[in-house]
Amino acid sequence: MAEPLSLDDALEVVLARARPLPAELVPLAVATGRVVAEPALARVDLPPFPSSAMDGFAVRAADTPGRLPIAARIAAGDPLAHVLEPETAAGIATGAVVPPGADAVVPVELVSEADGEVEIPSAARAAAHIRPRGGDVRAGEPVATPGETLRAARIGALAAAGVAEVVCGRRPRVAVLATGSELRPPGGELEPGQIYESNRVMVAAALAAAGADVAVLPVAPDDEAAHRRALEEGLAADVLVSTGGVSMGPHDLVRRVATELGVEELFWRVAIKPGKPVSFGVRGSTLVFGLPGNPVSALVGSVVFVTPALRALQGAADPRPAYEHGRATIALRRNAERDEFLRARRVGDDGPLLEPVTGQESHMIVRAASADSLVHVPRGTGEIRAGSPVRYLRLP
Ligand code: AMP
Ligand code: MG
Repeated sequence: MAEPLSLDDALEVVLARARPLPAELVPLAVATGRVVAEPALARVDLPPFPSSAMDGFAVRAADTPGRLPIAARIAAGDPLAHVLEPETAAGIATGAVVPPGADAVVPVELVSEADGEVEIPSAARAAAHIRPRGGDVRAGEPVATPGETLRAARIGALAAAGVAEVVCGRRPRVAVLATGSELRPPGGELEPGQIYESNRVMVAAALAAAGADVAVLPVAPDDEAAHRRALEEGLAADVLVSTGGVSMGPHDLVRRVATELGVEELFWRVAIKPGKPVSFGVRGSTLVFGLPGNPVSALVGSVVFVTPALRALQGAADPRPAYEHGRATIALRRNAERDEFLRARRVGDDGPLLEPVTGQESHMIVRAASADSLVHVPRGTGEIRAGSPVRYLRLP
């Protein structure tokens, strides 16, 4: 039997097959987390006109200090209707057009007003409190660039620049199925030997957070006909993710049935813990992940293999897992054979300390649920000493 692949090699095999899906126009209101496929250009200069940064008075700086007649009141949204004459002031609101002729705004809290005049006690600096036209961005300049993931500030920036829709990579359609004759839906009663099925909702949650458009398929019991039906249905998606049935037992049918259905297996088994018996293959343009059934293994596989594939399918510039850096709270023994992903909690406020949760076995999903991070312990000998740097992934 072939040696398990290394974590890095396996990820490269996956990414080599995850080509960006076609792009589509996405309204900003539903664009959070989407990956930009074409540059989005500002429709206007931003601000579109010189605008006041304060409530106050528009003046010529050269006329200050002094007492000036108030020749106009300009509100936000007023069209450009006033031209400031020398030796006059115009009341102006934040966001209103600074009238031609004015070169400074004096904040209202610095002046006193009486009898239609404003007393400005000290000299205004030229350009003070005026936001110049185009000071944030110029019309035609890119506001969002291909490969970036849209987050709140960028979505706000696009709207401000007049962009209503962005061309983004299509969200991958992901079919999630679970295999196992012992599995029953939560909510009902269990017969002896049965357990509640937890992987589908968990994997669906993890993958939806990575941009997937998830369809959950029925549970397939451990017989070939059921596997054939379920896998064939799932193969219509962009990505098929199954859990269970990829180990070496007589009831582990996923790989064999997938192969019969025309899936070309590209790897089986990766030197990681948990999640070693993971399989990956393709049929046509469909990516096929066989995650092991233990819930923590399925979660880790979702994070380290499926999520990067989903990001690549959406055209992300950086589809690889986003490792961050912290330090271990306790000594971590390295495994000679496999890279380990320990479930841990971030603690401390002076740079994250990663504290492994108690209960690191791959069936212990409730213990894992108190973690917010996966600490990567590269395979090797000896230990990572307490306080030493480690890298980790955030759990979705
Ligand atoms: P398998 O990979 O099919 O050998 O399953 C490994 C372990 O995970 C067994 O204890 C299964 O009962 C359990 N398991 C498999 N699939 C699920 C699932 N969808 N939800 C919860 N546990 C599962
Ligand atoms: Mg099974």
